[in-house]
Amino acid sequence: MTPIRTRFAPSPTGFLHLGHVVSAVHAQDLSRNGGFIIRIEDIDKQRCTPAFTTALIADLMWLGFTSGHPIRQQSSHFGEYETCLELLRRRGLLYPCTCSRQDIATHARLKAPDGSLVYPGTCRHRPVPTDRPVTWRLNMAAATAEVGSRMHWQEIDGNRVERDVSNFGDIVLGRRDSGVSYHLCVTHDDHVQDIDIVTRGRDLFEATAIHRLLQILLGYRKPRYAHHALLMAPDGRKLSKRDGSESVRSMKSRGMTPSEVRAAARSALIRADRSADT
Ligand code: GLU
Ligand code: ZN
Repeated sequence: MTPIRTRFAPSPTGFLHLGHVVSAVHAQDLSRNGGFIIRIEDIDKQRCTPAFTTALIADLMWLGFTSGHPIRQQSSHFGEYETCLELLRRRGLLYPCTCSRQDIATHARLKAPDGSLVYPGTCRHRPVPTDRPVTWRLNMAAATAEVGSRMHWQEIDGNRVERDVSNFGDIVLGRRDSGVSYHLCVTHDDHVQDIDIVTRGRDLFEATAIHRLLQILLGYRKPRYAHHALLMAPDGRKLSKRDGSESVRSMKSRGMTPSEVRAAARSALIRADRSADT
């Protein structure tokens, strides 16, 4: 029986909470025949800790989520991501940048579809020494000259989405601190793990255009996508750990069973999807 591979890809920056369980349930529901995969996205050494990784995995196991494949931990694969960067660099699609966050905030004029600032292009055509750690940016104009700028993907609810990826400007593919970036690592991992449906929250919907572009540039196959609605706090904002979204640990200490926590996540998911539709 052919599996349908989906993934749950948390970053270990805190304890597992209900929003995570919603994403895990969503991914597991869409998988078939052992295709549910857990991946730990821990490239950010400032925010991710081994202790949170251990705790996330323990809490997922307590809830009965098991990965159909060995859990992939991004921090063990920096070499692969560096190879992808090198490939793009040799094609002349990357350039080094030394701008600080402050420089960019001062000069940026536009917002990207994901709400971030569009890089104003300061370093695009100036010589930048690379003997110290630098940021590596994609030259968006050069990349889209090669493969076009209209990106398409299919959501499994039937929605065919089209976006112009040039609206993101020269995105970061190699961060100064870790050498890599979320967009690069997630695209590469979805490819090497042969993911059929990229399952995740709606907050990453617009970023999909970037992932499609990287798939085309790197010759990777095109998965389908399923973005679920985000849990909302009562005041309508996105739930996050900071807003006190309850951790699975605290639910457990209140006496909830794994199946009660999963049921709570499932009904939260249904409620969120419903309110997103109206
Ligand atoms: N690691 C990301 C997060 O925890 C999810 C990335 C993805 O699913 O594409 O928000
Ligand atoms: Zn710069």
